[in-house]
Amino acid sequence: MPYEVHVISSGYSNNHSEGCMYANSTCTLLVGMHNIVVDTLNPWSKDVVIAGLERHGLSCDDINFLVCTHGHSDHVGNNNLFLRAKHIVGFDVSFENCFYDHDFKNGVPYVIDDDVKVIPTPGHTHADVSVIVQTHKYGVVAVAGDLFEKEEDLVDPSIWKVNGGSEQPQLQESYRTKIIKLADYIIPGHGPMFKVTEKMKNHVK
Ligand SMILES: [Zn+2]
Repeated sequence: MPYEVHVISSGYSNNHSEGCMYANSTCTLLVGMHNIVVDTLNPWSKDVVIAGLERHGLSCDDINFLVCTHGHSDHVGNNNLFLRAKHIVGFDVSFENCFYDHDFKNGVPYVIDDDVKVIPTPGHTHADVSVIVQTHKYGVVAVAGDLFEKEEDLVDPSIWKVNGGSEQPQLQESYRTKIIKLADYIIPGHGPMFKVTEKMKNHVK
């Protein structure tokens, strides 16, 4: 059963001003065989997360899997709301105090069901993941966290390399290419969902 994708809150990041960059992540809800939340904003955005789920008739206790694309504070701020979900935070898979063995390090995807898998896409940090989901409406959607800062970073790489910050730019570049090849739409960490055009796909061939 292919999934529905709902962006609960679209992320943003603005230029530095007086030593401060304004940013919050994208929070995404996937509804299908499982209810899945990807990234939970900063701790001050709790009500945004709860209200976003309510708009789709769900409460935090209805969520089966929580995925945080990496460990930065604006992506994990409300994990505490999802105590019935299995948590996948970067390369860590856990429930309560049990950490499960999973070999993201060697490229092994975490398969949630036939339509959703979590794959390792490091570079922004050493342990980023992306969620690949099959949908009716958009085809293959990659919820990619800060692998992509926003659509504009395809024409201006300084946005993901410098503004977003990249621990390993070469590695990140290789995973960006992989995702552009396989996805029809990308939900980036700090901007609205965008369509992967033929031009973008040709560019990385
Ligand atoms: Zn971020």
